[in-house]
Amino acid sequence: MPAMNRREFLASFGSAAALAGCTVNTPPDRAATKITVTGIEIFRIHVNQRGDWVIPRIQTSAGVTGIGDASHAGAGEPQIAKLEEYTGLMKGRSIYDIEWLRQKVHPEFEKHQRATSCALSGIEQALYDIQGKVAGVPTYQLFGGKLQDTVRNYANINRSTDERTPQGFEAMARSAVEAGFDAIKMAPFDGLRTKEAAAEREGFTQLGIDCVAAVRGVLGPDGDLLVDAHSNFDLEKSLDLVRRLEPLKLFWLEEVSRSLEELAAINLAASMPTAGGEMLFGLESNARYIAAKAVDILMPDVKYCGGMLELKKISAMAEAAGLSCSPHGPASPVGNMAAAHVCVGLPNFLILEFSHGEVPWRAELMDPPEVVEEGYLSVTDRPGLGYELNETVARKYAVA
Ligand SMILES: [Mg+2]
Repeated sequence: MPAMNRREFLASFGSAAALAGCTVNTPPDRAATKITVTGIEIFRIHVNQRGDWVIPRIQTSAGVTGIGDASHAGAGEPQIAKLEEYTGLMKGRSIYDIEWLRQKVHPEFEKHQRATSCALSGIEQALYDIQGKVAGVPTYQLFGGKLQDTVRNYANINRSTDERTPQGFEAMARSAVEAGFDAIKMAPFDGLRTKEAAAEREGFTQLGIDCVAAVRGVLGPDGDLLVDAHSNFDLEKSLDLVRRLEPLKLFWLEEVSRSLEELAAINLAASMPTAGGEMLFGLESNARYIAAKAVDILMPDVKYCGGMLELKKISAMAEAAGLSCSPHGPASPVGNMAAAHVCVGLPNFLILEFSHGEVPWRAELMDPPEVVEEGYLSVTDRPGLGYELNETVARKYAVA
């Protein structure tokens, strides 16, 4: 379908209304409501040992395409097969059949977990990119418009810090501050995962706290410091950790333990705000998390939770419960932009995650290049998500 300019669009609207012999506001371009999904291309881009970026590009009968982020489903990227399978379900169906796809795919999560959640979320984002392009509006307009033009980000330095020492974290924190960020997140307790002896665990706990103190030194007293404990502690050690981190004045403490009951007990005891919920899929699991009073700040991830509409629904539940929403997302620039289009319209939005320092060509993966200034991501007024994938960069760093 050839693109329609605004004048032609309005003219078709007038003639449609005249033909109908009434003044009812009927859709002017009925062809736009009949655009269907025809296929998918999948770009798998090598980033580092923590995972590739997997970018689906959905094709339509109108020639319009849309991109999404389906990264980080786990070893072997099992979501790639699911991307093909779920696009197969959508073939011949309308680009607006988001809820239909949701109903069809949600039951699959129980069996396939992140392969399902990432594939569904990636396709869903691409469909919203397409819908925005077809309507000629930025995608955030499809979610209630925007309350702000930019989205504050914190720099996650965890994925880019190879040397897990105070010096290693300090160096990457310095790089983030130099890039303009005044909020930094780290997860310095992963050394505990393979340790069982109490003395050894205590040693790694203290090393982690020393790493946090080093980053506080880089940020100064006014910067926002976020710590993710990656569920490495039992309840007793969690409460001990909370007490020991208090002097470092955290912006939030994330997922110290795993169980809802323990998270709720930690939340009650902690003087600092607590955050979590990044892996939760769909409304039900988030509802349970909220009901348990597990955290102060809910962290749905646009590439795990079910997509942009699911993110909006989850944040609305959080809003009703008086919780802030801070989407999780060490993601590709596509995923960050998809999340940002929802975040600009959230009354309870707090801050978005940005994976700092992973690859030097990150911005160039987008066309035009991604812009993050002083830690803020601007949401463009271009139609859809406002970006295309730079195929030259995507192919240059494609997984062989
Ligand atoms: Mg986390």
